[in-house]
Amino acid sequence: MGLLSDKETAALLPASAADCPTPVPVRVVSSDEFLPIPQTERQKQVEARMNALGDEHGRRNGLSRRRFFQTAAGMATAFAAMNEVYGPIYAVSPAEAKSVDLAQARADGLKDQFIMDVHTHFLRDDTRLQGFVAGREAVGKAGWNPDLAGKPQTLEDLKYPNWFKEIYLDSDTKVALISGSPSEEPRDWFLTNDMKLDARTRVNTAAGSRRCLSHAIFAPGYPGWMDEVDRAIAELKPDSWKGYTVGDNTHKELSTHPWRMDDEKLAYPFYEKIAKAGHDIVCVHKGLYPPSVAQRFPHLTPYAAVDDVGKAAKDWPNIRFVIYHSAYRWTGGAGALAKDGYAQFEQTGRVEWTSDLADIPAKYGVSNVYADLGQIFAQTTVVEPRLCAALMGMLIKGMGADHVVWGTDALWTGAPQWQIEGLRRLEIPEEMRRKHGFAELGPADGPVKQAIFGGNSAKMYRYDVKKAAWRDDRFAAIKLDYERAGRDPSHRRYGYVVPS
Ligand SMILES: [Zn+2]
Repeated sequence: MGLLSDKETAALLPASAADCPTPVPVRVVSSDEFLPIPQTERQKQVEARMNALGDEHGRRNGLSRRRFFQTAAGMATAFAAMNEVYGPIYAVSPAEAKSVDLAQARADGLKDQFIMDVHTHFLRDDTRLQGFVAGREAVGKAGWNPDLAGKPQTLEDLKYPNWFKEIYLDSDTKVALISGSPSEEPRDWFLTNDMKLDARTRVNTAAGSRRCLSHAIFAPGYPGWMDEVDRAIAELKPDSWKGYTVGDNTHKELSTHPWRMDDEKLAYPFYEKIAKAGHDIVCVHKGLYPPSVAQRFPHLTPYAAVDDVGKAAKDWPNIRFVIYHSAYRWTGGAGALAKDGYAQFEQTGRVEWTSDLADIPAKYGVSNVYADLGQIFAQTTVVEPRLCAALMGMLIKGMGADHVVWGTDALWTGAPQWQIEGLRRLEIPEEMRRKHGFAELGPADGPVKQAIFGGNSAKMYRYDVKKAAWRDDRFAAIKLDYERAGRDPSHRRYGYVVPS
């Protein structure tokens, strides 16, 4: 169960407003505990412009607005409308927005880009975490993703077959890492460690190449947690580890084992054990803790922040610590929280707790801390693109472009292609760069974005992009067939076979 009450969940249904969805969301989207916020004035303007341009450009291409929005030019048009309202933040040419052929040519030119998503999820077959279904309904209602729109979502959509489809077929993602989340309620772990590692085997066997990596969850303080670490090392051989310092993120009301990364008694024996076994990547969920959540669970707030990262990183220089969500605090909530985040940036030049994270390398003299973009990117690019640009600028400035890694938190919000398009086109406005000393992000396939999309994680996970067989393995063939079958949703399910 997520933290939505039945009443809140009911308020998200039905997904009726999505008859003609825009290709890029014009409202923020719910993720588990976060309700969508009301549409802002500027989002209303964006939606109106998207629809007007969609009609105009659709006519020019002989397509209905709905059909046009499903094309690459529809996506380009959506970004063009955002530029009109927020200023020139997304690289998009007027010609591309107007012509389906031109836009498709650009998309095809980028299709083979190496994208490694180190933050994906699906749920176990016997899951009861209905809250995520409401989240996807909200995605459809917000007009985010044509595939989710007007289509009631079910728990089935959160399971392995759809994860496979949305990650490997509906997006340009080449390699995905399966993550998870522990709970004091054993049935409500997203996946057991065995399930994650079994799925990795299943995917890689089916692909005939290394397309999938997996976390094992470590849960300090949980009964028998170190035995499970021993077992995972011996039997499961995860690619990296994932922990939640808030203890139980799914059922915060049950959380009795929060922990600090710099706890010498509790956490250090774990680092020691995995380091001895040759493991060197520890991923930790941080942030996603707006004031509304802090009010309900004040005792967990200090664990959601990043004060414990620096010392742990300094004491364990051979372990890379990847901070998930870049500790971004201002997600969802009942108020316009990204707006609050942006106001904070405008007033102070800082954003909780992402700025604190970005300070760590200089403050502690460490280079083994990394920032993951799960949720922080999706939730800001939707509501407040200037904040998104600022966050990217500060992360790159503080951590280095070689210490920011691509993660999308899919499938909570549908196929990640829209997020991929967003980063490909995003640029930090010049006046913001000058004022804050941010570097340019550059072209979609330039060195900065290429590093973030896959280069940095490939290096961390010792994934040889050049030698690996992802270009011509079985998944590449399946995707080609799938694309030939057409992007029309009614044809999609016939275009591929889910490896089982
Ligand atoms: Zn996640």
